[in-house]
Amino acid sequence: MPPQHHPSELSPAVRLLREFLNTREMAAGTDQLSSAEGLSAWLASVQGSAADLEWVPGDREWVVAVREALRDVLSGHNGAAVPPASIALLNRAAGRAPLVARWDGAGNVTVAAAGGGVAAAVGRIWAAVVAAQAEGTWPRLKACRRGDCRWIFLDQSKNHSAAWCTTAGCGALMKARAYRRRRAGAGQPADRTSVPP
Ligand SMILES: [Zn+2]
Repeated sequence: MPPQHHPSELSPAVRLLREFLNTREMAAGTDQLSSAEGLSAWLASVQGSAADLEWVPGDREWVVAVREALRDVLSGHNGAAVPPASIALLNRAAGRAPLVARWDGAGNVTVAAAGGGVAAAVGRIWAAVVAAQAEGTWPRLKACRRGDCRWIFLDQSKNHSAAWCTTAGCGALMKARAYRRRRAGAGQPADRTSVPP
């Protein structure tokens, strides 16, 4: 049986994935991985040992490309079509960031990142995806449907139908838009009495 988590408590896999994807906050126009210091800080937060903190020129761009391809997959969880180029990019990246099988004392197998440096950090992201799939949270991890937001959130609604995140007022904004749409669509005279001007 997959581990159960209290709804308000995110699993380690979901936390790791959310923190990685949300290093970019489109609505605020910020990206932690836009600088060398930011990449080092992210590596330090993901990696188990100091030896894995090294990176070379080009690594930062690679990690950012992986992150955005993953965001496309998580938009797919929210009804968007996933560009084949994003899947191809992830498969190429998988070749550079391999996983190894690890058996635990209970006789169960998990996957873990192999190698070191930035590849190991990306390997930890893959391992988190595998864990999220196993625990059933992966399809509920979504990119906000608002095109200029795309913040990553775990859909904890009962019927798993949440489309927008609740940060930066997205949820409220979308509710207001849906309300206006309904109002425009149902613009019959009988309706007007109940709608304030
Ligand atoms: Zn949003």
